[in-house]
Amino acid sequence: MRVFLASIPLQDTSVVIVGEGDAAHAKARLFSGSAARLSWFAGPDVDDGEGRIGRWPEAADLAGARLVFIATGHADVRDRAIEAARAAGAQVNVVDQPGLSDFHTPALIDRDGVVVGVATGGVAPVLARDVRSAIEAVLPAGLDRLARLAEGLRQTVIDTLPDFTARRRFWETAFRGPARDLAVEGRDAEARRQMLRLLNVSQAGEGVVHLVGAGPGDPELLTLKALRALQDADVIVHDRLVPKAVLDRARRDARLIYVGKSRGDHSVPQDEIADLLIAEARQGHRVVRLKGGDPFVFGRGGEEAEALRAAGVSVVVVPGITAALGCAASAGIPLTHRGQSQAVTFVTATTRDEGVSPDWQALAAPNHTLAIYMGVSDAAEVQGRLIAGGRSASTPVAVVENGTRPEQRVLTGRLDELAELVREGEVQSPALLIVGETADWASASAAGVSVQEAAA
Ligand code: SAH
Repeated sequence: MRVFLASIPLQDTSVVIVGEGDAAHAKARLFSGSAARLSWFAGPDVDDGEGRIGRWPEAADLAGARLVFIATGHADVRDRAIEAARAAGAQVNVVDQPGLSDFHTPALIDRDGVVVGVATGGVAPVLARDVRSAIEAVLPAGLDRLARLAEGLRQTVIDTLPDFTARRRFWETAFRGPARDLAVEGRDAEARRQMLRLLNVSQAGEGVVHLVGAGPGDPELLTLKALRALQDADVIVHDRLVPKAVLDRARRDARLIYVGKSRGDHSVPQDEIADLLIAEARQGHRVVRLKGGDPFVFGRGGEEAEALRAAGVSVVVVPGITAALGCAASAGIPLTHRGQSQAVTFVTATTRDEGVSPDWQALAAPNHTLAIYMGVSDAAEVQGRLIAGGRSASTPVAVVENGTRPEQRVLTGRLDELAELVREGEVQSPALLIVGETADWASASAAGVSVQEAAA
């Protein structure tokens, strides 16, 4: 180990910054919301105000300082400040001068009660920042809430569990279980209840299920929250729309359960999926229900959330990039565009699951983009109904198959050739139909394939 990272309690301490310029501002930002008292001496060229003092510090100004950051180009000011700071018993950091410093500043992730530092001894600050970003991506923004929750319950836990080992076991379970998930989501009251229940019965609560949107297929389109849920999961219940590239990002020893539906196949019925999620959650597992795109856009996420809540299982919904957004972006089609499209509708033509048919008349309105889900086998009906409803036969259309994935195909044509495009192009599921004035933007993009080429 070449450097040692110590953590310095900031409560009731004094931190002094000497200097003006970017580095001084950065240090001021770092400490402005902290528990320390901050004094910032910015030199005589600066007016007092905005937290700054318009002169250089005297020795008396540094009395009682714990940390002193020096970021000034004036060598004499710097040297006097170093000397005075050390005489006052402070630790000194001279920005960009590791040789003059008593300590270096690590790359920090500041979650108030939880702070993560990455240090390279000052030799590779950019590397330290990259490592920090990688760690930051998997730490929930709400981590501090968990620390605060724990702080608030600390005495209760000591009173209830006087035995040190029992206490440690309790905190381990609490920090890995549903209470943690609820706390980082900001659901403090529920989280507290879960922790107290755990404390009282010394066993897992009733569990929590994350309904997570996996996005359209490209794993880079996972949200940070989705990625974290995948990396924390004990059990992942997934379906056909979630490709291997996404599952590869899951925790290595997570148990994967496939409940996919594929037309013609016998799929796992919805109520069995809900029962499975409830049973896994009740065993205290961290359960992720992973769905293609967004769970609340044609994902039946609402039904699952309802069933889980009815069973007393908490639900956390993590949104995902829905197919319309992913496909539009990767095909180069703006879903709205000044002068061409003032609205976009996510719709399915399928009446099998929905029970009611869409309002074709309304959907046929001009200057309106339709993103049609599950529409491949209904392309002829979509074409006929929209034209009958008054949409121009020459309206551009695009069919995006396997959007955002390496095997993506984009076919473009006119509304009156939509069915032909799908048939001749032998379009396979999953594919999204886009109808509207902007759909022909896709033909300008490299991936675009026209109906003639598709038919050839
Ligand atoms: N919850 C999902 C939609 C599920 S319905 C979401 O928000 O995206 C399934 C339909 O979504 C498919 O029939 C297809 O129309 C569309 N779809 C999902 N992923 C797709 C992809 N990668 N490319 C094209 N269409 C996709």
